[in-house]
Amino acid sequence: MFDQGLTVLRIRGIPIRLHISLLIFLPFVAYVAASQFSFIAASLEIPREALRLPPLAWGAILAVGLFVAVLAHELAHSLVALKNGIRVRSITLMMLGGVSLMERDDPEHEAWMAFAGPLMSFVIALGSYGAYRLLPAPAEVSVALLAFAIMNAILGAFNLLPAFPMDGGRVLRGLLLRRIGRARATRVATTIGKMMAVVFGLFGLLSWNVILVLIAVFVYMGASAEQVRSSTHDLLRGIPVLRLMTDRLGDAYADESPRAVAERLLRHNLVGARVIDDPREGEGRREIGVVTVWDLAQKLGRGVAPETVGAVMSVNVPRARAGDDASRSFDALASGEASAVAVLDEGEHVIGLVTSAEIQRALALAGALGAPR
Ligand SMILES: [Zn+2]
Repeated sequence: MFDQGLTVLRIRGIPIRLHISLLIFLPFVAYVAASQFSFIAASLEIPREALRLPPLAWGAILAVGLFVAVLAHELAHSLVALKNGIRVRSITLMMLGGVSLMERDDPEHEAWMAFAGPLMSFVIALGSYGAYRLLPAPAEVSVALLAFAIMNAILGAFNLLPAFPMDGGRVLRGLLLRRIGRARATRVATTIGKMMAVVFGLFGLLSWNVILVLIAVFVYMGASAEQVRSSTHDLLRGIPVLRLMTDRLGDAYADESPRAVAERLLRHNLVGARVIDDPREGEGRREIGVVTVWDLAQKLGRGVAPETVGAVMSVNVPRARAGDDASRSFDALASGEASAVAVLDEGEHVIGLVTSAEIQRALALAGALGAPR
């Protein structure tokens, strides 16, 4: 569900995407913000006549401002991640906030990485409140500044709830990690997340609050997904990549047509091919990438296949060594950005592939037999 989205800009190489749900949600946020604006204006005893813009216009401005603030919140997570050497694949702004896709988990820095987002929200809230108190501004601008401060404070506080998938849940997991280990720390944070979701859901239903019900569903799904991911991780831990990779690999030259390669893979029942640079040199041949049946099927199926396999192949294929832990390959595939992990030998030659099919097979067996921990 996170891959749909329009990339609108890049910040330090991170694509910032807008999810389609935002379009539907933005007017709703504007409406809620407008009523909050009116409420604050009334409590500050500012007469309706003193407003030059109608509350709904201010609601729209605040809604856009809020999504910029959500972006700043996500960027704070991302910048801490980048500082710790973790690549951030994308930031998607969607209905109920933002989602940052990181390359990998980093238990060591997770607590701080998770805390940076809410901290940013609080800083924005404080800055906005400071401007409200100190800047001489027209009455309605003051009201908007105060409303913006409150929104960001709520955003920060909500995200600090110690329940997965909220940031607070990650902070909690990061803090528990050293004492009880990752698996149990995840269990604690996700169980609190599920319990909180049930409470939100009940409150939402009793008060007919659609947003609260939506948040409850979102939190419950996020907590469940993390539990599955974490137990999958555990099942694969300790299994070397060599044991689950497939070596059903062929060769393809970079200037071959994708169709010809696809036909050859099908004929020989292969999962993928090493893409080789120059067909004339027998000795100095260079492996420049890997192409899988999934890459080919996707391009050929859509009828948009480039002329050559060299243009189809994934350039940034995640790599693993034969002895590496399989759980790391799972992380690389779970992000959905690559269809395979290339397994390399000492001489940097591709000796096998791990695709989600290999992971599924290993999981089925490990689950049935009880994996070594
Ligand atoms: Zn966050």
